[in-house]
Amino acid sequence: MLKKQIFQRVKKLIPRISSTEMIALQSGTTSIDKQLFEGKVKPVDFKPTPPESVFLLGYKTDPTIRENDVFPKERIDDLIRNFPDQQIYPHGNYNDLFRYMGKQGFFSFLIPKNHGGYKMSVREMSNILTYITSANPCLGVVAMVPNSLVPAELLLHYGTKEQQNKYLPQLANGEKIPCFGLTGPHNGSDATGQIDKGRVIKEDGELYIDVSIKKRYITLAPVANLIGVAFEVEDPHNYLGKTGVTLALIERGHPGLEQNGYHNPLDTGFPNGTLEGNLRISVNDVIGGVNEIGNGWKMLMECLAAGRGICLPATANASSKVATYSMYLYAKHRVQFKMPLIEMEAIQNKLANMVYNTWAIQCSIYLTNYLPDEGEKPAVLSAIMKEQTTERGRMVIQDGMDIHAGSAICKGPNNVLEKFYKNAPIGITVEGSNTLTKNLIIFGQGLNKSHPHIFPLLKTLLNDDETGFMKEFKKIVGHSVSLYGKALHASFSDISELEKHTFYFACLANFVALKGGALKKEQSLSSDMASIMSNLYLAHSIVMFEGKYNASPLLRDYCVNRLLNENKITINRVLQNLAFSPLLFFMKQTLKTHYTSNRELIKELEKNPVIMEKITENMYIDDTLNNMIQMDSMDRNTVLYKKMYEEMVSVGKFEAPVPSFYK
Ligand SMILES: Cc1cc2nc3c(=O)[nH]c(=O)nc-3n(C[C@H](O)[C@H](O)[C@H](O)COP(=O)(O)OP(=O)(O)OC[C@H]3O[C@@H](n4cnc5c(N)ncnc54)[C@H](O)[C@@H]3O)c2cc1C
Repeated sequence: MLKKQIFQRVKKLIPRISSTEMIALQSGTTSIDKQLFEGKVKPVDFKPTPPESVFLLGYKTDPTIRENDVFPKERIDDLIRNFPDQQIYPHGNYNDLFRYMGKQGFFSFLIPKNHGGYKMSVREMSNILTYITSANPCLGVVAMVPNSLVPAELLLHYGTKEQQNKYLPQLANGEKIPCFGLTGPHNGSDATGQIDKGRVIKEDGELYIDVSIKKRYITLAPVANLIGVAFEVEDPHNYLGKTGVTLALIERGHPGLEQNGYHNPLDTGFPNGTLEGNLRISVNDVIGGVNEIGNGWKMLMECLAAGRGICLPATANASSKVATYSMYLYAKHRVQFKMPLIEMEAIQNKLANMVYNTWAIQCSIYLTNYLPDEGEKPAVLSAIMKEQTTERGRMVIQDGMDIHAGSAICKGPNNVLEKFYKNAPIGITVEGSNTLTKNLIIFGQGLNKSHPHIFPLLKTLLNDDETGFMKEFKKIVGHSVSLYGKALHASFSDISELEKHTFYFACLANFVALKGGALKKEQSLSSDMASIMSNLYLAHSIVMFEGKYNASPLLRDYCVNRLLNENKITINRVLQNLAFSPLLFFMKQTLKTHYTSNRELIKELEKNPVIMEKITENMYIDDTLNNMIQMDSMDRNTVLYKKMYEEMVSVGKFEAPVPSFYK
């Protein structure tokens, strides 16, 4: 009787799970995210990079790497030099650019060698994208799209043999320029909510899907000639007995397809536009063929991780590296009030923010890229990486703008930040907008997917399996009681603050989980839990990175303390809003921040060159930066230094037309 009551009670608590959510929950793997819910994170034992997955931009320092196996750095430098325009579409030489990049293999990073591609490791691809984006974010987007979701990754995982043999070589050699259209005017964040609908029809004995598409914001759409489209299939005559979200591939010129509208994403200069028209698509052009009709959402969920967890973080890494390094040098040399900016505490604070966020981005990327190279398909961690790196990347640029001040606002060759400033909102919005990702997905999905016991319990409830439920219920109660004890014990033991906070998060998560389905609406709470979880992931990645490279214990401690300080504020707020907070009294903390810590960090930057060596890894050095680097090793009293200083402080100046009323 009691068992039945518990079963019914818990059943009422669980959130309604839609089929798309269920697919998301079942896609991808868990690793460190699961450990966070268990209260203990094991350090990853990073293996040395195997020769076939080259740490590309540093390959010359590794004699075991064969040159034939690498994507040559010289080729990337040539691309950057040959196409210096920051805006390529619609007025730049985009025709030449796409032909060049395609022929040189820039779109083939994921495609296996037997199909003519470069098939590199995730880390290698991330390094290349970081390098290209650090020079030119527009080129970065152009390189990123064909190498993330579309459509190579989908073809590799789900394509029929015919589709793979036909399209993968054409994608690898650039004959085909891909794009992928999911978003429309009525389906943005709710990607499948009101997606375009198609119907299965039969004509002359052949099956087709008639679909009217209206897609917008599609990157590369105006130039693409291989187009992935997502729509929902209905089968009113039951020809196939299959319905649901479906992905198909069509070519430019497909009857009815209109590719004649473009958008201008804040003058960032890459092609983006619309896909429209009434189409008749053969069922053989569904990715994976007839068998995969209705499996589109699952396919997207499994393949989205590349864009979300790898490519977008690589672009945030690029902008943060350039902004931090350039503003560090600029602040050392730019003089006001007879002193370099870097001696002013206000500027030190901004610079410290920049180094902190850049380090968090860089270390978490290092850890996250390692996981897919070891066979993982991180789902929740990819959402954390997408949200955290693009959000922190935006903060880095904003702090940089404050240091560069007027020079960051006026366009010109010395304005190193403008291109990144304009691009920052794109990373924030695409592939799961950050607001949605932080307030709904990270903790919501984390709880259901990464928690060691919630998903198994959920399955018993959904299957009305009372016996299975009681087994899982006992496990979750045992887990919660044991974690409560561990967290309480941690609060007065002398383990590290990071270990303590990891126990706190796991214990707190179990209390928050009691909210059940209500958590979907309580987005402030969900967002706070996402922040705590994300910061812990970043903090553990920083500790692991330091374990690998011994770059700077001071910087490691500084960053971990700041992340945990942010968490203290968040944990206190969660406790203020949680009914069970008296039980969790031991988690309440007072914040200690010292004005001196930023000063000490800036001194460490001066004393310890390894920090900037790491920050400048995989970063393109342009003429403006080169000027500042040279100045840094020069005697400040020389004529040449003064000339270069003048160059550094000069901003874009254009010929002003005489106003007609003075003529
Ligand atoms: C430059 C650019 C390139 C793009 N490239 C592509 C592409 O190649 N292919 C493609 O298919 N799409 C592409 N997109 C589309 C992109 O993925 C969508 O813009 C994005 O999904 C957000 O949709 P929306 O703009 O309609 O915002 P909306 O869905 O209207 O959202 C508005 C705001 O509400 C928030 N929100 C929505 N729902 C919730 C919720 N339940 N809880 C909390 N917050 C919520 C969102 O986070 C956002 O902040 C691109 C967009 C841009 C701008």
